[in-house]
Amino acid sequence: MPTVVRSLLDRLRALEVATRPEHPDLTAALARRWEDLPAHVKTPNQMLGTRSAGCEGTHGVFPRCNLACTPCYHAKEANRVRVDGPHTQREVDRQMGLLRELRGPGQNAQLIGGEVTLLAPEDHAAALQAMHRHGRKPMSMSHGDFDYDHLEALALDPDTGERRFDFLSFAGHFDSMMFGRRGIKRVHDEAELNPYRERFCAMFQRLEREHGVKHYLAHNMTVTPRNIDQVAQVVRDCRDMGFRMFSFQPAAFVGNQARWKDAYRAFSSDEVWQRIEEGAGARLHFRAVQVGDERCNRTAYGLYAGDRYAPVLDEDDPRDQRVLGDFLAGFGGMDFVAPPALLAARTARAIARRPQILPHGAGWAARLVRRAGGVRHLRANPPTPITFVMHAFMDARDVRPAWELLEQGVMSDDPRIRATQERLQSCSYAMAHPDDGRLVPACAQHSVLDPDENLRLVELLPLHGGEPEPATV
Ligand code: SF4
Repeated sequence: MPTVVRSLLDRLRALEVATRPEHPDLTAALARRWEDLPAHVKTPNQMLGTRSAGCEGTHGVFPRCNLACTPCYHAKEANRVRVDGPHTQREVDRQMGLLRELRGPGQNAQLIGGEVTLLAPEDHAAALQAMHRHGRKPMSMSHGDFDYDHLEALALDPDTGERRFDFLSFAGHFDSMMFGRRGIKRVHDEAELNPYRERFCAMFQRLEREHGVKHYLAHNMTVTPRNIDQVAQVVRDCRDMGFRMFSFQPAAFVGNQARWKDAYRAFSSDEVWQRIEEGAGARLHFRAVQVGDERCNRTAYGLYAGDRYAPVLDEDDPRDQRVLGDFLAGFGGMDFVAPPALLAARTARAIARRPQILPHGAGWAARLVRRAGGVRHLRANPPTPITFVMHAFMDARDVRPAWELLEQGVMSDDPRIRATQERLQSCSYAMAHPDDGRLVPACAQHSVLDPDENLRLVELLPLHGGEPEPATV
């Protein structure tokens, strides 16, 4: 075949792949994920294996933290490991490489471990760039106690002063069970943290004003018997600060035992969700879509138009469920962040795969506008999307035996351990182990694997004495 013809064919093939709604590697990864899910989560509203392969997080890349949380999910040795930029960059690169290989491109990944802003901005930036390089959508997980200088140095190229990221995604962890924050070492109630939450959001708003770097901010909060009754007020107080996601984690008995303070199992997931709804001022339709197992995750997508909250999908309306089915069948795992021409081509092909989405989608859009208060109300109150999430980690005493049996291919007869195994099999939050080429649920990582891993890291990266003292509880 003449070279010119071969080259033309190659380009046509590349164009055909680039304009598919999903990258073929993602299509294959989603199919595998769906195949591996247990039957009880293979529901029409399941996102795993249809839209996403699941969330991802790093581990063992910078275990140290300079605040203290009760509870803290990290092993007690974590603070004896030095923060080391080259180690972080190397391990993030390896972990993300495996995730790209096993899960395809375009998945959300959290740069998480200890406190990410203890890394030098250059190392933080290099880790995010490695994540992008491997097709991940990174989010930096921080306690939010850092300065604008770090953020600016992270966002800008030090040689040119130009921005090196157009967009940064951060989750700020704020709750009254954290100790050692500058300016407020000990917190008595959640409202005392509001100025610190505002300051966190304001840094990103300033970065956008001064350098054009856009952002997505999530607010993370651990829920215990001490602060459950303040959840609603936190949502009310913080709704307009600039966070686009509010994520609540009912505390679990995992990680450093010295930091276990309360009867964490004194309330149910329903009780937490009820407080979130009180704060949101609306019912939150978490059964419209499901990510993994409902005992692990609740997610409610919606938008505010003024004070009025509208769910994106009404879980009671079969027409909305049908639209979701059309969307998943047509668009699947399509990444909507793409250049306009590519996005248009992918959208056209997605609609061609599922033409019903046009009439059904038009009906859904009209219902959403009605739920949000109508066209006039929306004109006067431009909508702001806000997502509410609850993620309930499991206790180490259950995860350990459940995981050990799963490793042997055995399902437990004990109902509690079996339920734990079902959740681990449906896990939506994985961590990568490049040495043996496998992914493990974050619960298994923290409950089973972290202690040994941190002991190895203590030997590999011992403290050299100049590190800031971590806070004590
Ligand atoms: S198994 Fe653990 S890490 Fe995975 S989704 Fe459930 S709670 Fe989250």
